Amino acid sequence: MSTGKACVLVEPNRIETWEVPIVDPEAGGALVRIVAGGVCGSDVHIADGGAGVMPFPIILGHEGVGRVEKLGPGVSTDYAGETVKVGDLVYWAPIALCHRCHSCTVLDETPCENSQFFEHAEKPNWGSYADYAWLPNGLAFFKLPEGASVEAVISLGCALPTALRGFDRCGPVRLGETVVVQGAGPVGLAAILVAAQMGAREVIAIDMHDSRLAVAKSLGATATVSLKSSPEERRRQIYELCGANGPNVVVEAAGVLPAFPEGVSLAGNHGRYIILGLWGAIGEQPISPRDLTTKNLTIAGATFPKPKHYHQALHLAARLQNDVPLADLVTHRFGIEGAVAALEATKAGEVIKAIIDPEKS
Ligand SMILES: [Zn+2]
Ligand SMILES: [Zn+2]
Repeated sequence: MSTGKACVLVEPNRIETWEVPIVDPEAGGALVRIVAGGVCGSDVHIADGGAGVMPFPIILGHEGVGRVEKLGPGVSTDYAGETVKVGDLVYWAPIALCHRCHSCTVLDETPCENSQFFEHAEKPNWGSYADYAWLPNGLAFFKLPEGASVEAVISLGCALPTALRGFDRCGPVRLGETVVVQGAGPVGLAAILVAAQMGAREVIAIDMHDSRLAVAKSLGATATVSLKSSPEERRRQIYELCGANGPNVVVEAAGVLPAFPEGVSLAGNHGRYIILGLWGAIGEQPISPRDLTTKNLTIAGATFPKPKHYHQALHLAARLQNDVPLADLVTHRFGIEGAVAALEATKAGEVIKAIIDPEKS
């Protein structure tokens, strides 16, 4: 049996490269050769155990673009009905849907209760830090449109679907609204891109790193505020730009607990606050609940985007790739054996987006 390389998280803080069997796809599934596996901020929390217990050992990576190697029996289209054949590039939502659980069928929500984000490394596996990914039946994959850039599509990995789900949950940005985004990592950058495309009047990015704020501007931020300034100074600058009523929408994409009370405080009257980044930040923060009532504030958390958000993200990236420097967000490229270095560079904030490229040694 032929094998491929895979980056296995054996237990927290223990990563190994394994040779794993290349398994034929099941009916309804597909086998893809990974072209780019996205390194996500949440991978850092998963690898150090901060995100909780996983079904170890697991193959890391939940973001990917791959080339179809084999299609399972019965598969002739992607999950949007586009014809798909061996050699086509596809992008996928990393959790299969069973369509026979409460979440899938009654709530119409993700994640599916009968599926999992990660699979045991000894079983057929869709982890993307690998030579091959085995996409099970029910795991939605979408063909890249003609001419789409792999880097543009993977640059915002699961961040763009996550931001799209956040705006779905909290209401879309309307023309002329003002938006503040806390954090200019991939999730924040995705929120900035979407807010700008939806017609926000002001899109204000907050971050510690000037380099990230420059990237935020390239994706549509109209102004930037440094996290190095005091909270009072940040608030003053933001209210000067948004007006006395304050921002209509605040997006939390910082992933650090103190961002939450600041976001509640920054949000304007009748505002919406979307929590995306605190997924990996376990802990508590005091806030003043009265701020929620007196401001008529709507707060929505969002995670585990639906397949449709991946489809929207794919087509948005492909449409914008020539107008917005999305592909340039991929600043670092590592081989499968470089996964530890990729995670360290991501943790250190040295990268905008790192990818695992199995062709790179
Ligand atoms: Zn289900
Ligand atoms: Zn991700």
